[in-house]
Amino acid sequence: MGWRLTMSHFSSSSAPDGDQAIALASAIARTEYRDLALYSPERSPCAVDLSDNTNLWGMPPAALRALGDVSAATFSRYPSLYAHELREELAAYLTETSGVSLSARWLTTGCGSDDVLDSAIRAFTRPGDTLAYIDPTFPMIPTFARMNGVVPVPIPLADGVRLDAEAILRTEARIIYLCSPNNPTGATLAREQVEAVVRHAPGVVILDEAYAEFAGDTFVNLLAKSDRLLVTRTMSKAFGLAGLRVGYAAGAPALVAEVEKSRGPYKVNALAERAALAVLREDASWVQRRVREAQMVRARLMRELEALELRPLESSANFVLVPVAGAERIAARMRATGVATRAFGELPGIGDALRITVGPWEMMDAVLRALRSELLSATAGLPGTP
Ligand code: PMP
Repeated sequence: MGWRLTMSHFSSSSAPDGDQAIALASAIARTEYRDLALYSPERSPCAVDLSDNTNLWGMPPAALRALGDVSAATFSRYPSLYAHELREELAAYLTETSGVSLSARWLTTGCGSDDVLDSAIRAFTRPGDTLAYIDPTFPMIPTFARMNGVVPVPIPLADGVRLDAEAILRTEARIIYLCSPNNPTGATLAREQVEAVVRHAPGVVILDEAYAEFAGDTFVNLLAKSDRLLVTRTMSKAFGLAGLRVGYAAGAPALVAEVEKSRGPYKVNALAERAALAVLREDASWVQRRVREAQMVRARLMRELEALELRPLESSANFVLVPVAGAERIAARMRATGVATRAFGELPGIGDALRITVGPWEMMDAVLRALRSELLSATAGLPGTP
């Protein structure tokens, strides 16, 4: 009945509007999409934006040079099908930084690691399958699962940070998603727990290492022991290319080949591939210097937060999570004074918390000032600066 109604709408001369249009779209959409909301963190422009964990020192100069040096043909023709040159360069980078020898066959790329994660979920599940994921973690994971008709199963981390391998394995999920360092906590997962998951998982394990550069450690070496592990990475964080959208994953060639099918061609655009190649070939030292700076700023920021009698979580990423009651209200008020952070309400095992991206010290000064003012007005029972 719903479908026949829909068809008559299509054939009628006037377009449906208001509630009628919503009912129509709802009737023709995938049922799994009915309750799906768009990703909508508060991202309106803000003078000091510490809300998205990008590289606040900017983008590497080699990328900027590569973007300025393009011919018309760069745009009028399609980019490479499956980014072979980029995969070769990424394989060399991972080989150098992990000690495991990888070639382009071990790599897949995408329009951000968002795209790689989505493609991987689609490649290894059928609608109705389950995806178990640590909770809290990257909020897009349950959404990507639902987008593919897959049932997301959250498994709480002990105290918000510790992985219980047995609990997540007990789900027997088709895909297990881990993230280390984890977003939003910043904590790395214990190696023996990750190894246990990788060894015993009945399906595919996705290990998201979007922030690995800031940890100075990686699980990429586990690829030598498992043909079911996919390690996802991004050039949006340490590499400073978030706006260009370049993500990738490493895994056994047979596994990666399935993700490539699900991904489809032309996912890394021509400009993005050029810039990414330029950074990998010419500016590795720029990235390393910024990573070291971020690590130093992170340590100093932690000390300053502790001096405010806050208890920031130990972080191996380019952000720090600070539990604070009423985080959403505090973040909204800080934003109104020109400092944006990301607020989380009721994180399992942690409670309300603010996530602060690490960047040049002037920015950290601004967030500390705003936070101090909020905390002072809260203890004085004042409404605080708007
Ligand atoms: N994984 C994690 C853990 C993230 O925090 C993010 C971005 N915030 C992503 C993946 C996606 O990053 P991108 O699509 O920019 O590569």
